[in-house]
Amino acid sequence: MKILVSNDDGYRAEGIRRLRGSLSSLAEITVVAPDRNRSGASNSLTLDVPLRVFESEPGVYYVPGTPTDCVHLAISGLFDFEHDMVVSGVNDGPNLGDDVLYSGTVAAAVEGRFLGLPTLAVSLCTGSAKDGHFETGAEVARVLVERLLKQPLERALILNVNVPDVPFAQLKGFRATRLGYRHRSEAVMQAQDPRGRPVYWVGPAGPEQDAGPGTDFEAVAHGYVSVTPLQVDLTRHAALPQISQWLDGLRG
Ligand code: MN
Repeated sequence: MKILVSNDDGYRAEGIRRLRGSLSSLAEITVVAPDRNRSGASNSLTLDVPLRVFESEPGVYYVPGTPTDCVHLAISGLFDFEHDMVVSGVNDGPNLGDDVLYSGTVAAAVEGRFLGLPTLAVSLCTGSAKDGHFETGAEVARVLVERLLKQPLERALILNVNVPDVPFAQLKGFRATRLGYRHRSEAVMQAQDPRGRPVYWVGPAGPEQDAGPGTDFEAVAHGYVSVTPLQVDLTRHAALPQISQWLDGLRG
């Protein structure tokens, strides 16, 4: 059993070190992760420059690239063996609702969807408090991987896991959830560079808009680990008849 571990916070982040530690009781772990924080990188690939891979210690590799670069390399020729699954995290911060579109943590898991087992993206819902309970996120990952090994799920499933930032013993349990969604994000913040030219900071994500029953937001707010099954098919199937009708009579 070989598990590839990645993240978007960089290979030195506490979350990934904890994750490597907790999963090593279950499998042989390889870490391939960005050299620095690439949160918000989504599913981007680096195509204009070659990628270099560095080894920081046996079994831990870092890449000046995106989370998707890391997993893509790792499962497409970097090694002379195959991994069975990808576990990404433990991210410093939630990936709830629309966050999933921007998340490098989720992207790393998505890139591993063709391996033999479902993939996991694990995020700790840290707030402003200084020290997050990354050990809780790592333990949740271990528990879920153990369950996957004993009770396999369909391969190509992607599980987006969000963990309340509390000691493991204080978790209420696990809930299967759907993604909620957020209000639009806050406005960009304008500042000035030392030469008086305007620069902009992308503002924080908006507050939750749909945090109702069954959502990931609701589960985490009530102290449960949220587990959302994701799919890559973004097609809005219900809109197909309407779009087909709307296109009627147009000539190419
Ligand atoms: Mn991150």
